[in-house]
Amino acid sequence: MTQEPQPTDAGKRRWPHTGGYVFVNDGERLPCTCLDTCSVPYCSGRCGCDACSLAFTITLDEMGVLGPDGYTISEEEGRARFGPLWPNP
Ligand SMILES: [Zn+2]
Ligand SMILES: [Zn+2]
Repeated sequence: MTQEPQPTDAGKRRWPHTGGYVFVNDGERLPCTCLDTCSVPYCSGRCGCDACSLAFTITLDEMGVLGPDGYTISEEEGRARFGPLWPNP
């Protein structure tokens, strides 16, 4: 039996209501493996955290900047709005 990866302390602070997890589907969850150096409130997952990478993508989608063919705003505007969080091309 493989041990499920555990959220980090920073991950638990980031997602306090779920104990450090981001829920993907019913019953499926990803542990937040963020570090203290990750930006708050958002982390784009650059630290290697799949949970925040997914959550950030969902956030972009909800903000309407993610279309079926990629981003709906220019890279310039993306950087202006999200700063260093904006994904590199
Ligand atoms: Zn994270
Ligand atoms: Zn992170």
